[in-house]
Amino acid sequence: MVIEDRTSPRHTGGQTHSSVTPWVPDRAARVRNDEVSAIEEILSHVPDPEIPAVSIVDLGIVRAVHADRVVITPTYTGCPATLAIEQMIRAALDAHGFSGVAIETTLAPPWSTDWISDEGREKLRAYGIAPPPKGAGAAALKNAQAAECPRCGASNTEEISRFGSTPCKALWRCKACAEPFDRFKCH
Ligand SMILES: [Zn+2]
Repeated sequence: MVIEDRTSPRHTGGQTHSSVTPWVPDRAARVRNDEVSAIEEILSHVPDPEIPAVSIVDLGIVRAVHADRVVITPTYTGCPATLAIEQMIRAALDAHGFSGVAIETTLAPPWSTDWISDEGREKLRAYGIAPPPKGAGAAALKNAQAAECPRCGASNTEEISRFGSTPCKALWRCKACAEPFDRFKCH
């Protein structure tokens, strides 16, 4: 009964509640957003340890950025690069005065090649790695779709080895220009 007596005025008196709520200046929210954009900017310069041509933002590894924490999903759970990515983010944040920002790793949903940005796909191609087709999903897992040669653009290609230079990449060869190339494995 005592609890009800205490809370009821707040619940019933909606108008009273809002009139006593101090006006919150827009400044607080803006400062927080500035911090978030600053963190996003820092992360966009953190390269993927295996493919320095693309950033962890390009690859879609960064899932969310908050003023107090960064949420990441590693590209491949077995990747030795996972720890390196976390260490690189930590170092970059610390160097820019964001040592209080935590790094949170989430594995659900699992990282998907669909999360690679258009800019990231272009950077991969320029680097000589065939980006996975967009929206490839399960079909690409079975290699139903041929990879496009990053050198000559031919789709007359074949997989040589399931494992390329790293566990995240498969080794392919172009039948048109005979050049071998890495293909980002589709997850
Ligand atoms: Zn080719």
